[in-house]
Amino acid sequence: MTENAGSDSFVDLLINGVKVRAESHMTIVEAAWAGGVPRVTGVGCLEGMCGSCRILLRRGSAVSVALACETFAEDGIEALFLPAPSAARHQYELTDFKDGWDIQARFQEIFPEAERCRHCHGCVQSCPKGIKVEEGVALAAAGRFREAGEAFIECVMCELCDNACPEQIAPAHVGLFSRRITAFFHLRPPNLIHRLEELRQEPFSATDEKESS
Ligand code: SF4
Ligand code: SF4
Repeated sequence: MTENAGSDSFVDLLINGVKVRAESHMTIVEAAWAGGVPRVTGVGCLEGMCGSCRILLRRGSAVSVALACETFAEDGIEALFLPAPSAARHQYELTDFKDGWDIQARFQEIFPEAERCRHCHGCVQSCPKGIKVEEGVALAAAGRFREAGEAFIECVMCELCDNACPEQIAPAHVGLFSRRITAFFHLRPPNLIHRLEELRQEPFSATDEKESS
């Protein structure tokens, strides 16, 4: 969230078509609540982590997308909360992958659109987390799933990139697939294995915590 606290100036903006006067340090979510904007749904963690509060944003003639919880109210802008994404069209079960030999072939069956990327950069421009979405899709299409998964490591699954993609590639789900398949077929990080083993040997309990405090 950008630092802007401390200012007590007011700004006028439109949220879901409702005129709102908000303090300029408020986020769009806070401004919507303070302004009594009805039917604001899809608000989650308020920390830019869950990707739920997706908005279409108009500043003059410029239109973009963003997360409402990390975008501050500005004078004269219009914000429109976007509906929740529809159910994923790409269905698969990780347990159907018996070994790593056919991952790429299966990926092409599940995500046949991925090879049709037209490099319009729409996904990159729409991503509020600055992820190299287009590159991640290309890596996955080339079978480089570990690298693709790393490209999407900061993804919050807001699916704004999916909405932006004219080829309906569903880049967010390409990223999710890449991370899942990598974790499914590869060893977990050593520090995670070490920690899990510690927990297995000494299960955490509330009593332990009280005793140690
Ligand atoms: S990659 Fe797509 S789903 Fe993930 S944060 Fe960026 S826009 Fe949202
Ligand atoms: S929006 Fe779709 S077609 Fe455009 S660059 Fe991204 S993945 Fe490729």
